[in-house]
Amino acid sequence: MTQIEENILRVMERIEKAARKAGRNPEEIKLVAVSKTVEIARVREAVEAGVLILGENYVQEAQKKIEEIGHPVAWHFIGHLQSNKAKYAVRLFDMIHSLDSIPLAEELDRRAEKEGRTMNVMIEVNLSGETTKFGSEEARTFDIARKVLNLRHLSLAGLMTMPPYFDSPEMSRSYFIQLRELKEKMIKEGVPVKELSMGMSNDFEVAIEEGATYVRVGTAIFGERK
Ligand SMILES: *Cc1c(COP(=O)(O)O)cnc(C)c1O
Repeated sequence: MTQIEENILRVMERIEKAARKAGRNPEEIKLVAVSKTVEIARVREAVEAGVLILGENYVQEAQKKIEEIGHPVAWHFIGHLQSNKAKYAVRLFDMIHSLDSIPLAEELDRRAEKEGRTMNVMIEVNLSGETTKFGSEEARTFDIARKVLNLRHLSLAGLMTMPPYFDSPEMSRSYFIQLRELKEKMIKEGVPVKELSMGMSNDFEVAIEEGATYVRVGTAIFGERK
């Protein structure tokens, strides 16, 4: 067994264990293997080991990989997306986790229409970790969500967040709780939000306990990035 195979197995086991601990069905949780900066041969290893979703942060870097590896896997864009790359993102990716503005939503919709497809998007939410400080970020997320619902070539899949880095995974918990509460609030107000993309190598178990449906894991699969 290669190191990458072994790492993937271990991550899958940890996902399953965290789900069971939280009383959830492990099948509700999808693993996004984050392959930014990872060379193609090692990405292939992960695909051969059974990874179903790859996550990339840079359009140009991803393009080469997607052209070579193709679509036995789904490709998710998780990095910051500039409007001038929207065209390529729509061509290359199955899901965008990082929609963060109304102009970007409009540009993605325009490009998706040209490509004759519907683009799945999640809204990236910048949380403070303090539930009392929801305010403007919450309003912003609602505004983007309502915009997405009005655009015919975008489909609102869910919400994504990335807490600041902490050594202790427990420190991320309040951010994950906030994202889950925001999802619940949106559903109550008639905005259909299904997925929660949250949790990385150091804190994905806590994220699963708080309702993650996508975890984005790089280092725990591919090792430290250079
Ligand atoms: C790099 C990255 C990850 C993966 O981080 P690891 O700590 O290596 O698991 C997840 N999400 C986003 C948005 C990233 O940029």
